[in-house]
Amino acid sequence: MSFEAQRRRVVESLIFMGYLRNPRVIKALLAVPREEFVPDHLRSYAYMDSPLPVGYGQTISAIHMVAIMTEELNPEPGDLVLEVGTGSGYQAAVLAEIVAKQDPSRRGHVYTIERIPELVEFAKRNLTKTGYSDYVTVIQGDGTLGYSEKAPFNKIIVTAAAPSVPQPLLDQLAEGGRLVIPVGDLYVQRLLIVDKINGKIHKRFGIECVFVPLIGEYGWRLEH
Ligand code: SAM
Repeated sequence: MSFEAQRRRVVESLIFMGYLRNPRVIKALLAVPREEFVPDHLRSYAYMDSPLPVGYGQTISAIHMVAIMTEELNPEPGDLVLEVGTGSGYQAAVLAEIVAKQDPSRRGHVYTIERIPELVEFAKRNLTKTGYSDYVTVIQGDGTLGYSEKAPFNKIIVTAAAPSVPQPLLDQLAEGGRLVIPVGDLYVQRLLIVDKINGKIHKRFGIECVFVPLIGEYGWRLEH
């Protein structure tokens, strides 16, 4: 079966299971070729709905997790988005598809931060070959500090497990903005959805999940 047919099949099953509802998110998942964001030797597994290793002990998230987090984030055309945890660049491409590519008249942008330099290069290569590099800026650094140069952000998504919500991310969230982040211990977390409304922070929990740790000044401080 072609990659395109496999992509359509997995998206249809996520719609059937109720994970995917938002037409913009569905269109984005149908558009972004996940096979271009996994290491070459794993291309044939690209549409298995599970995390896959991308090297350096890190993973590209399962497709249903990207679907759920993107639905929770509710990105809109024109949004300025910050992602913490670039990994392969796949989630960033899905976001760019919605905020910048689907409606060229409302050019949003995705800034994405990754702490491992080799993954920064991997993601940049993947985003360039798939045509997303104009809509996504990849930055190497500690994403728990956010990216004050381009703040405030309409949407912030963290794709690594945090012990709590990093304060700089709350500070860099725009009025009316939304932040989605897995919060918990090192083994299991729950998605936390944070809205900033009239300057006040409102929180609600989503599904349980398992992510690699967010390592940094406002994350886990692990010895290597
Ligand atoms: N969103 C990614 C994708 O689409 O492939 C998957 C992200 S992977 C589950 C989590 C990533 O977060 C890893 O690449 C890890 O190196 C990165 N990470 C962990 N702590 C970080 C930090 N403080 N700042 C930036 N990236 C971090």
